[in-house]
Amino acid sequence: MAQTSQSATRRPRSPFPPGGRHWPDLEEEMKARSAKDKDFRHGRTAIFFFYAEQEAYEIGKKAYYEHFSENALGNGRAYAGLASMERDVLDYGLDMLHAPNTGRGVFTTGGTESIFLGMKAARDFHRATREKRAGRRHNIVMPVSGHPAFDKAAIVMDVDIRRAPLRADRRVDVAAMRELVDADTMAIVGSAPCFPHGVIDPIEEIGRIADEHGVWLHVDSCVGGWIAPFFERIGRDIPTFDFRVPGVRSMSADLHKFGFCPKPASTVFFRSSEDVDRSTFRLGAWPSGLYTTTTFCGTRPGGAVAAAWAVLNHMGTSGYENAARGLAAMVDAYVGGLTAIEGLEMWAKPDVTILNFGSNQFDIYAVAEQMLKRDWLPGLTSVPRGMQTMLSMQHAPVMDQYLSDLRESIAAVRQAGAVGTIKATY
Ligand SMILES: *Cc1c(COP(=O)(O)O)cnc(C)c1O
Repeated sequence: MAQTSQSATRRPRSPFPPGGRHWPDLEEEMKARSAKDKDFRHGRTAIFFFYAEQEAYEIGKKAYYEHFSENALGNGRAYAGLASMERDVLDYGLDMLHAPNTGRGVFTTGGTESIFLGMKAARDFHRATREKRAGRRHNIVMPVSGHPAFDKAAIVMDVDIRRAPLRADRRVDVAAMRELVDADTMAIVGSAPCFPHGVIDPIEEIGRIADEHGVWLHVDSCVGGWIAPFFERIGRDIPTFDFRVPGVRSMSADLHKFGFCPKPASTVFFRSSEDVDRSTFRLGAWPSGLYTTTTFCGTRPGGAVAAAWAVLNHMGTSGYENAARGLAAMVDAYVGGLTAIEGLEMWAKPDVTILNFGSNQFDIYAVAEQMLKRDWLPGLTSVPRGMQTMLSMQHAPVMDQYLSDLRESIAAVRQAGAVGTIKATY
């Protein structure tokens, strides 16, 4: 029988262990297994890890472990303390994003779950308010730069995704987006900012499409939602992207990114309590009675809820404003350093903390390969061919080293006329 390539190359299966090992031995082996990981704590990875300051990091860890065995399932029946912390965190987010008094939030395990819940509510609203057109499928209209979590939601809900092209500044082309909207559009989406290029889509203009067509607008501020408001508060030029835009119906914002909270933690907010009802599951067909969750997940980590509450109360508006000041200064310094390198260009002007750059003179993927050899893990974009990095405070102390390694890498690539074979993989 023909073997699939996967089974042919599978590593030997690890046998179920006999047990009896104790912590010192386990700890040692785990440390050894992670010893060759990228040094993410010292800024070597362009993505995956978010850091503001040491005390927030320690507080998140302590609060997490204090509550790590608690279950955030059950609407506070067993863990009333946890439920009250969860309500606080959601209130803080509603306040920060200028939601009206009717606004409600849900604490989730990540951006993907937040997006799924937003899209479920949008789909149910569409079903409740529009005639079903025979032979037609629902669609979601979003920018080319939108996150694959929307594609996942579309696959699961069996609806289509229509992607609108970007303008030269890499924000969505709103006119092109308008063309894609029809009577079967259940949601339109803008990002604040988008992950690949780090720019905020023109949410106010997209909001006008939402008004014209009475269609749901979801703002995906997963990466920037908990920090962009503080960029605005310290006087950076941030286009309005939150509930102040009348057409915005739901928003996703990850605590475990620039909220600097331990994973898994994200939030999704709705303009009205009826909309949070549309994303809620109320199921009672089994013999254990009514099972109600506002999330996809049943059992949820109590540690993540407690940690988010503790980090938010430690940081507060002053802590996030300080973080925003530090991040903004670092972004400016990196952009200055990058654009000072001959042949290197920013592919977009960063609105918050994500940089995307490349070159028309040499192959940036070959440069990325050189950076990998120098023990940096770069992020990549495919269109345009670019390097991408999400800056948080662990990247500040290593900036000079990074820029000097980048200059060396570019010199090597120019000399060899090298073309990279690396693939853009998130
Ligand atoms: C990270 C991200 C998501 C998905 O969030 P996860 O927590 O990884 O599930 C969605 N949208 C944007 C813009 C993101 O950056």
